[in-house]
Amino acid sequence: MSSALDVGQPKTSPSAAPSSTTSPTSSSPSIQNFRPRAAILGAGISGLSASVSLRRAGWSCTIFERSLFSNETGAAITLPPNASLCLSRWGFDFNKAEPVPNWSIRFARADTLEVVKSEEYEGFGEDLGVGGEKGHGGSWGVHRADLHWGLRELVGAQRVKGAISRSKENTKETEGKIDGGHGTKRMVDGGPVRIELGREVVGLDCEEGVIEFRDGTKLEGWDLVVVADGAHSKLLPSILPPSSTPSSYLTQPTSRSIYRFLLPLTPSSPLLTNPSLRPHFLPHSQGGPLPGFLSWHDPIKDVLWVSYPCRGGRVLNNAIVHDTPPQPSGEAGESSPPGRGWSTAVGKEEVLKVLSGFHGAVRALVDLAYEEEGEEKEEEENGRGTGEKGIKVHHLFKRPALNSFVRGKAVVMGDAAHVMMPTHAAGGAIAIESAATMEVLFRDFPSDPPQLGEFVKRRLKLFDQLRIPRCNLTMLASNAGPQWLNVEGVEEEVRRYHKGPLPHKDTLPWTKEFRQVLFCYDAFEAAKEAVRKEGRVAVAASRSGAMGSEVEAENM
Ligand SMILES: Cc1cc2nc3c(=O)[nH]c(=O)nc-3n(C[C@H](O)[C@H](O)[C@H](O)COP(=O)(O)OP(=O)(O)OC[C@H]3O[C@@H](n4cnc5c(N)ncnc54)[C@H](O)[C@@H]3O)c2cc1C
Repeated sequence: MSSALDVGQPKTSPSAAPSSTTSPTSSSPSIQNFRPRAAILGAGISGLSASVSLRRAGWSCTIFERSLFSNETGAAITLPPNASLCLSRWGFDFNKAEPVPNWSIRFARADTLEVVKSEEYEGFGEDLGVGGEKGHGGSWGVHRADLHWGLRELVGAQRVKGAISRSKENTKETEGKIDGGHGTKRMVDGGPVRIELGREVVGLDCEEGVIEFRDGTKLEGWDLVVVADGAHSKLLPSILPPSSTPSSYLTQPTSRSIYRFLLPLTPSSPLLTNPSLRPHFLPHSQGGPLPGFLSWHDPIKDVLWVSYPCRGGRVLNNAIVHDTPPQPSGEAGESSPPGRGWSTAVGKEEVLKVLSGFHGAVRALVDLAYEEEGEEKEEEENGRGTGEKGIKVHHLFKRPALNSFVRGKAVVMGDAAHVMMPTHAAGGAIAIESAATMEVLFRDFPSDPPQLGEFVKRRLKLFDQLRIPRCNLTMLASNAGPQWLNVEGVEEEVRRYHKGPLPHKDTLPWTKEFRQVLFCYDAFEAAKEAVRKEGRVAVAASRSGAMGSEVEAENM
């Protein structure tokens, strides 16, 4: 990382960009210190990744996050090579996050646990030149809390027990009541990236770069605004064309939901002591399978239980996709209206009813999820727990593909830009890719304000050209589900955005063809090539302009 990125304390509100006329590569100290200013709205995987990448590109970033970061989600996330490549280049601490390689996928019957199809892909990621070695890209399962903390550390916050806290070296923190009465505000200022918690953004002027908060205050003068407020984005309509109808930006609940929970994968766990389960979960070093996905499927009720290890192999992440049972009226989750939010608890009886077709040893794991506290307790003592017990349920949502992610000085990314089913475990990964794209597109900025404005608009156009095909392909493939191109109309829709090769219509999620198309992508290289092309076009245009003037002069 350039040392220039660590200079200059961010201010509470953005000031107008310095009116320098020379480039930031000039030796003038005032110009060296020039930092365009980005507001990032939301501090999920997307917002944190965007701030890491823009910081690396030399921007001064402020994240505004609605919540107080009081909760971490008790679940894991798969990081395919397209994402881990970015994290690796950003200096993400893989050793601390303790991800487990994802090097195999096994499809098994829910009733007998017999594996009916499997693929191994040890070293997946080597085709991107990042290898499968720990700490150098590859394909991983990681606890979400560990990913969040790793990203927060990259922007300057430190991992401590409980909520976010002060980094002794480079973090200032102030707490107090803010005007407007929406609770305690906590500010964390880590190096050049500032995170303001308890700051809900309710309005956005994309053309002018103005954001408005729930308490009615406004901050203006941003050179770039990154909207990363998640699937149920309230800010997306500001980015879309004014003619957009609610059906183009409101998420629609699907008929499917997910139960999610973690189980200890310690030697005394039934996962390793029960003879029916042990062969599936034994570490590879002790004769077990390569680590990765294990998918038990009940075709009668169409229930799919997917598990994979994380946190150094000591924890098993579980996600059970099922038809949403009829809901009692009025049940609503805070972040997922209507229906159940990400952290809605569910009763054991409901889960066991859904799993009626599953092997007894597997059903017994549900009891364990409600009983087990050991691993969580221990991890909490280490400052990494999630505070979650039992099983949580989450509705799955969809939204139509967008034709553009940009407007004026604003760009939307992550789940706010593309809401997808977890079929390919790809939503977070594609957001990390988008952030890496930003890093390349937004460095080499001019320091002259009018030029900077033009630069941002030009590069946002490039962002669209790069990201619309990739993000929409990933979303549409995920939302089609395992039926993929057998679902009527999907191929036609995918082809509106993506011109490259597609997996065959009967290809199962995460098998070779999908891995090749969705995950073997180097966002940095793609963006660099787009910037080079932009440069070639500009040179050709100026040459043809010069030639045009010469011809005009000759004709005079
Ligand atoms: C069951 C399941 C499994 C998944 N598994 C995988 C996987 O294995 N691999 C993968 O890559 N992806 C996976 N995904 C997708 C992935 O979890 C999401 O794509 C990713 O978490 C989205 O991050 P985000 O930052 O865009 O949104 P969010 O995580 O929703 O973050 C949005 C943030 O914005 C804040 N916010 C909201 N409104 C405002 C506002 N007005 N002002 C300020 N702040 C605001 C919120 O508090 C929140 O912190 C999975 C998804 C599900 C549902």
